[in-house]
Amino acid sequence: MAPQLDITAYPGNVINNEFVPTSATRHSINPSTKEALYEVPVATKADVDLAVKHARKAFESWSKVPFAERARLLLDFADAIETHRESLEKLLVLEQGKPLGLAHTELDMSLQWLRAFSTMEVKDEVLDDNEERTVTQIFTPLGVCCGIVPWNWPVLLGLGKVGPALITGNTIVIKPSPFTPYCDLKLGEIGMGIFPPGVLQVLSGGDDLGPMLTEHPDIDKVTFTGSSETGKLVMQSCAKTLKRVTLELGGNDAAIICGDVDIPAIIPKIATLAFLNSGQICMLIKRLYVHESIYDEFRAALVAFSKGIKTGDGFAPDILVGPVQNAMQYEKVKNLYSEIEKCNWTQALEGEVLKNSKGFFITPAIIDNPPDDSRIVAEEPFGPILPILKWSDEDDVLRRANDTKAGLGASVWSKDLDRAERMARCLSAGSVWINSHFDVAPNIPFGGHKWSGIGREWGMMGLKSYCNSTSLWKWKKAM
Ligand code: NAD
Repeated sequence: MAPQLDITAYPGNVINNEFVPTSATRHSINPSTKEALYEVPVATKADVDLAVKHARKAFESWSKVPFAERARLLLDFADAIETHRESLEKLLVLEQGKPLGLAHTELDMSLQWLRAFSTMEVKDEVLDDNEERTVTQIFTPLGVCCGIVPWNWPVLLGLGKVGPALITGNTIVIKPSPFTPYCDLKLGEIGMGIFPPGVLQVLSGGDDLGPMLTEHPDIDKVTFTGSSETGKLVMQSCAKTLKRVTLELGGNDAAIICGDVDIPAIIPKIATLAFLNSGQICMLIKRLYVHESIYDEFRAALVAFSKGIKTGDGFAPDILVGPVQNAMQYEKVKNLYSEIEKCNWTQALEGEVLKNSKGFFITPAIIDNPPDDSRIVAEEPFGPILPILKWSDEDDVLRRANDTKAGLGASVWSKDLDRAERMARCLSAGSVWINSHFDVAPNIPFGGHKWSGIGREWGMMGLKSYCNSTSLWKWKKAM
């Protein structure tokens, strides 16, 4: 077996295939125990300038590397990550808090994504071809990209930017969240042995690092995943240098359950899709609309199942709900919990803030039919707390589902597939599922409507967003 990565050592930022140490360091904590993890670099403006300079230089040659060779290196990268996956999964649990099984899934997905991107070539498209002329749309890489990554899926969302950027011939600088810098730094370290210098670089830092990157005049594109509020700041900052931006932002997904569903069959799926990763996924079910004809039975079954969901340290067996990832998010979710009493919401399932535990643990709560304008319905909780709401009229529930600034995902659940599709087509969201929720794939565009984002990641549409489009007009008469 190949030697595993040393996950305890972070000698520097990954710049031009070298570790560049910083004078200051910082650490993040394990959210299950609040114990300090390892020291990581704190990048300065000089580090950003250095990384961007090398990325620019590397772009000159990397953009000319044939697709087949870029694809080969991406596959080599995936293989090298796979060699170290055991260490990375452990590190992911330590830094993010998610259960080990889910960390395993995140690595599975990340490898699948990288390998799929290696097969996705953005090809020329002939738009017009006649006796006189041919017009071809060609796609060339933008240049230096910057990927800003959130703390909930640092591996998948980091590599979900690296793959498309590199396969289309760009270079990329990755900036992880200060809450979860570890896996992304290690991915950069693994990449040092695969890619030419300057192609993939990783900078870890504090809260000021993001703006240093979005303001940088020599970065051509920022691909950002995070909250809608930060997304607006990113766009504002990028506007000054007209950078291309892709924004993957917050969600407040509705799931609409019709009266004809097979309740016992779908309850485990619905509960898991609400409480997975402690509710800290952009596209989980965050508002559950259940038809009035089955509301009581459905609620009872959902509560019975959810009572069995185990909350605890990600290394313990059978855990679905790990800790909330950080103190800031914990306070946010606790604040929402404090509304329960204040606003007289009924708890179908009583959640508990485990104040005596070592970590940021909160058990799942289900709020029974709160008013549509209550915070638990209007806001993205990003924690293990779910409102279940009653509906009777189809047009009205579609209006309620769409009555939000968010538009990331939505779903309709019914035995009547024609009806479900009719309803699904009325939902304003970047992904809409029938009898499912939160399906994603590397070859399918992913993104949001309204305040859930701008542009798309993944799929050919996502890959094209890492490219300039040139319409090449070729007149056939020799001049
Ligand atoms: P966040 O917006 O606080 O931070 C995201 C990233 O942006 C971090 O790396 C952070 O350091 C950086 N950042 C913070 N301020 C910045 C600034 N002014 N300029 C540039 N970068 C800055 O989000 P988070 O709390 O890490 O993640 C949770 C949010 O992300 C939720 O709203 C969730 O729905 C959303 N999210 C969306 C998707 C999606 O694909 N649509 C996926 C995961 C998470």
